[in-house]
Amino acid sequence: MQKIPLMDLTGSFPQIYEETMNKIEYLVKNTQFIGGDEVAAFDKEFAEFCGVPYAIGCSNGTDALVIALKALGIGVGDTVLTVPNSFIATTEAISCVGAEIDFIDIEEQYYTMDPALLRKYMLTTKKNVKAIIPVHLYGQMANMPELMEIAKEYNLKVIEDTAQAHGASIEGKMPGQWGDIATFSFYPGKNLGAFGDAGAVITRNEDLYIHMKKLINHGRWQAKYEHEIEGYNHRIDTIQAAILRIKLRHLSEWNERRRKVADQYEDLLKSLDIIGPKVRSNAQHVFYVYTIRVKNRDEFQRKLKEKGIETQIYYPIPLHLQPAYKSLGYKTGDFPITERISGEILSIPLWPEISEMTIACICNELRALLVN
Ligand SMILES: *Cc1c(COP(=O)(O)O)cnc(C)c1O
Repeated sequence: MQKIPLMDLTGSFPQIYEETMNKIEYLVKNTQFIGGDEVAAFDKEFAEFCGVPYAIGCSNGTDALVIALKALGIGVGDTVLTVPNSFIATTEAISCVGAEIDFIDIEEQYYTMDPALLRKYMLTTKKNVKAIIPVHLYGQMANMPELMEIAKEYNLKVIEDTAQAHGASIEGKMPGQWGDIATFSFYPGKNLGAFGDAGAVITRNEDLYIHMKKLINHGRWQAKYEHEIEGYNHRIDTIQAAILRIKLRHLSEWNERRRKVADQYEDLLKSLDIIGPKVRSNAQHVFYVYTIRVKNRDEFQRKLKEKGIETQIYYPIPLHLQPAYKSLGYKTGDFPITERISGEILSIPLWPEISEMTIACICNELRALLVN
């Protein structure tokens, strides 16, 4: 049997390859490598896509989080809350600005920050909590209506880590329409992916926009060698902005196809002893990945690999138990829901162009393993 990858990034090439290559050639011939019209146009078009007034392309999704935290004035002496089941970028950014990390466990059904646990934490904490970073995971948004209510009550800033949910929504509102800032990654495998590293920050607040724009480009606003503040170089490459503009025009259609693939999976897997993804009522899921929960996950994954089916675990080790955070003093049992699901979750192949036949083939193998 042919190998089936977790995702096939060449799937979109028939739609974008020629236009992209022509654009790259044009930019190279004109030596347009930094800034310029493509970056300005991307910022404008991405803001429009997100339904917010301001977007700024930047170097990657990790830097986007750092920029957001800095723009909100968060640093030494402040605590920032996020979830233990995210990619380490989320917590790296908190440490990067000198703030303290703490965690809120997740809602078991949706894998995102549990508002009830956030409220409980805020009622008892003695820490100087300044912000929360809910992570919109696997393509689905966190419970923003409830999280925003608590954030308002306790005067917390909200940064939405949207590296996995470009185009998702809840109650008809997308990331960036809830929190102070939403951050994006355009890592190649994300729903909107560059041909390298790239990211973005978006906001509805003009002051935050101006501040972030300066932070991204050495503290300058208009004049090339007037630096109003000390910023940094977090810029997006012109070539990446140009590629993202081309791909952005297809993003809604690709997200729609991801949902169709998910429907097919749901249909074919419903009688099996697995827990599939649950879509919140009143929400649009964009299925960055299709994550199921199975018993004996590691053995199951190994057997699928033998059959040529690639899978991935997002994430096998909760952040609070990572060697890098040993000094924070967490132990097993601190965040039981994340710990439990980390031993059960498995993401199976999904990309917009995956064929119905390939899905059927994967589901047959899953069924064969589960009924034996
Ligand atoms: C991919 C990802 C990031 C980091 O993005 P980079 O562009 O790779 O720096 C941050 N948070 C989450 C949840 C991610 O999935």
